[in-house]
Amino acid sequence: MANPMQALASLLTAGVLMISQPISTVTPQNNPDDLLLVNREWRISGKYTPDVRLSNVPGQVRRLTHEAADHLEAMFAACKQETGKQMLSVSGYRDYEKQTKLWNQKLRNVHGDEAQADAYVARPGASEHQTGLSMDVGQNGVNDSLGEAFADSVAGQWMRENSWRFGFVLRYDKGWEEITGYSYEPWHFRYVGDEHAARIHELNIPLEEYLLLIRRERFLDTLTP
Ligand SMILES: [Zn+2]
Repeated sequence: MANPMQALASLLTAGVLMISQPISTVTPQNNPDDLLLVNREWRISGKYTPDVRLSNVPGQVRRLTHEAADHLEAMFAACKQETGKQMLSVSGYRDYEKQTKLWNQKLRNVHGDEAQADAYVARPGASEHQTGLSMDVGQNGVNDSLGEAFADSVAGQWMRENSWRFGFVLRYDKGWEEITGYSYEPWHFRYVGDEHAARIHELNIPLEEYLLLIRRERFLDTLTP
């Protein structure tokens, strides 16, 4: 039996596997819950209603899944302890109905121009906030919290380096726009669990690419005797 790398190489040569695939070939099915994929291409239905709780941190819209909320609280506390800065929750769980309202509101504001509305607001089912695993964060005292100012703030820099320690990853980095379908958002963090977060941080790749990577690994596992 060929070793896994040789097996991968021959599959690639045969065109069976593609290293670079468009978003549409990554299906949300069969992913573990923590790695649920939601983007403009892969929407979730209005029936997806995770079990969420209010996280015990300062700010607003503080609901996340229980596990993500536990980790968010630990992360905010560590940031405070290590930098002296207090982070704020700005926007966590949003249900399908709320996203529908936001989308319709934006559509009205741009006089029915759907492309323009898409540029600003995710359509219902296309927002990762519906998973209960995503949180937009800010730093207390930094105005324009959901702006690029957060990237330059102490908490913003700390989050980029340390969020993985608490199972969260920066979801929409600069240069990833074509893969994620979203603009650079230095404030939006996604809970993926400790193990995945450590790997994603080290690899420095978007979730879409990471999902392809772990699928290839699992497929190669099945080839190993
Ligand atoms: Zn967000």
